[in-house]
Amino acid sequence: MVTLNTENMQEIEGLTYQEWVENKTKLKKVQSLLYILGRLATYCEAPKEASAKVMVSHLQRVMRGIIYVDGGWQTIVNQLLDQACGLGLQIRDQSPVRDIRKQKEGQFEINIANSDRIIANQVLYTGNPHDLNEMIDDNPLKNLIEDITPVKAGSLDVALENLPDSKQTFAMGIDNPFYFSLHSKYADLSYDGKSYILHVLKYHYPNEKVDSRKVKKELEEFLDRIQPGWRELVIASRCLPNITVNHRLPKVEEESKLTSPETAISNLYIAGDWASPLAILSEGAVHSGKKAAMAMLSK
Ligand SMILES: Cc1cc2nc3c(=O)[nH]c(=O)nc-3n(C[C@H](O)[C@H](O)[C@H](O)COP(=O)(O)OP(=O)(O)OC[C@H]3O[C@@H](n4cnc5c(N)ncnc54)[C@H](O)[C@@H]3O)c2cc1C
Repeated sequence: MVTLNTENMQEIEGLTYQEWVENKTKLKKVQSLLYILGRLATYCEAPKEASAKVMVSHLQRVMRGIIYVDGGWQTIVNQLLDQACGLGLQIRDQSPVRDIRKQKEGQFEINIANSDRIIANQVLYTGNPHDLNEMIDDNPLKNLIEDITPVKAGSLDVALENLPDSKQTFAMGIDNPFYFSLHSKYADLSYDGKSYILHVLKYHYPNEKVDSRKVKKELEEFLDRIQPGWRELVIASRCLPNITVNHRLPKVEEESKLTSPETAISNLYIAGDWASPLAILSEGAVHSGKKAAMAMLSK
């Protein structure tokens, strides 16, 4: 654990997370801990496929500390929206893009589902990578996108009027891929500040066939073990048994791909949690967004 922060990223290039863990230690208990920490930091439950370079660099980041945001992530979205509108940006919500067409003159025609049309010199695509195939003819990322597998999880959010066991505020499964955390211990997440907001999650394996009912039951039963009696105290709960956490599992063979924010179609750029070679989650989205913005501005 002590050497984790000084790990040389060049040396672990090309290794899967499992190979890195097995090189690091032969002790089964320490290996097991590294697998738990790996999925905690990245949500990836795929040590045989995931790039050690991406996993370890995220682990290093998480070990420096994390922030639970008051009001949840919507607080960040609202602040971004305010700043963007303050700078004069025009935002159209409820307006899904149907397709993007490159015109002969070099510009792009962006067609929106409500039949509106926007003409642009440059386009930055930040949606789901797989949707790009339907959105543009001769998708320049077609081959790469075919191999992209999303990182998925089953998620259960619960608001309780009381906490059955106030000592149990965090838990990770050792031989099962479950997570529990009392998020309201670290951030204000309810209007009156009195409710207990907790989160239970099951990390899915890549391409796992998910039985939604079974996953909901498993999440609830995991919570039964940590907070017995919680069912009688529920104010509200929401279960999303198969939600996408990251649009791309960072596979070891993809380390040298997605290095340019501009695609083979001139002036068509990409960003998002999938579009950075060495970062995922919000880190990948911000990193690739910034890189794309700089490249677009420099033209
Ligand atoms: C349960 C859960 C917990 C998570 N926890 C963390 C965490 O602790 N730390 C962390 O860093 N990350 C976390 N993540 C991951 C993080 O939320 C994502 O990585 C991040 O939101 C990705 O941002 P993005 O902009 O790439 O994609 P998205 O957030 O998916 O945004 C894409 C946007 O494009 C829009 N869009 C899609 N298609 C179209 C279209 N055709 N026209 C117009 N708009 C379109 C969508 O509506 C969406 O708003 C978590 C995710 C989940 C599900």
